[in-house]
Amino acid sequence: MLALLLQNGHLRLETSYPRPIPRQDEALIRVRLAGICGTDLALVEGYKGGYNGVPGHEYVGEVVEAPGNEEWVGRRVVGEINTACGQCDRCTQGLVTHCRERRVLGIKDWDGAFAEYLVSPLSLLHRPPPTVPDTSAVFTEPLAAAYAALRDMPDDLRQRPPATLRILIVGDGRLGQLLARVFQAEGYRPLLLGRHPSKLALARSCGIATTRQIDTSAEYDIAVDASGRPETLATLLGHVRPRGAIILKTTAAHPASLDLAPLVVNEIRLIGSRCGPFPRALTALEQTQIDPRPLISATYPLSAALEAMEHARRPDAIKVLLQP
Ligand SMILES: [Zn+2]
Ligand SMILES: [Zn+2]
Repeated sequence: MLALLLQNGHLRLETSYPRPIPRQDEALIRVRLAGICGTDLALVEGYKGGYNGVPGHEYVGEVVEAPGNEEWVGRRVVGEINTACGQCDRCTQGLVTHCRERRVLGIKDWDGAFAEYLVSPLSLLHRPPPTVPDTSAVFTEPLAAAYAALRDMPDDLRQRPPATLRILIVGDGRLGQLLARVFQAEGYRPLLLGRHPSKLALARSCGIATTRQIDTSAEYDIAVDASGRPETLATLLGHVRPRGAIILKTTAAHPASLDLAPLVVNEIRLIGSRCGPFPRALTALEQTQIDPRPLISATYPLSAALEAMEHARRPDAIKVLLQP
């Protein structure tokens, strides 16, 4: 099959990559659309110590084989991306997305969605409601990741009336745009900080306040970092009020050093946040609380995946899709 392969930091198209073979309780899925994420670009730069395999962890597809579970064949699906063994200490504590044995689709030990087919455990699959088009369903994984930021807010802040919280979202790219829409849909009034006039205009077109600069004296209850730049955290430490929170959504390829004293002095809560609830994301798409389709910058055939990855790197690009 056709697949985009990452090996030793180099991407190349393979025309005869072996099609994966599903086992019992797994599905062979024909990919209908896949989305390129900042993590994919970071993987090429060496994030996660250099993943070798097929990247891609945002997809919508159709089940074509499901050994032992034939009723799944023909179903349209989206999929969660962390496998769980169900037996290790993390899994038994309910931390299934942190399983010690986990494989991560397109990121760790599991060939991903930038290919004609992928294999997934059935237990990770969800069925998008029929009214949700593929072009929206392909956003389920990153939208769920955006909802994770809401879930991961400290309780004392979540219990406040949403409109009374000052929320800053940093980064006008793929994840920042979704985060701003999620907070807005939940009644918050986020301010989106970004560098790109066209991307900020896109957020404003759905009523989200934007800025290209933080006032030196501005203070926020919560700052959410989706900037992709590790140095953003140092700036945010100066703009979050005492006992406020910073939620980190960024997976940067490179480490940064910073002065943590303001974190201690101001008793700021620093929270890492990664994967989120698929059912919540699918409900938001079904109820059209969030329409992610204006975020699609371009759709490329899988045969042009190298060009698509280059496009996704451009400063003006938001979401670039691949269609096998
Ligand atoms: Zn991602
Ligand atoms: Zn486990």
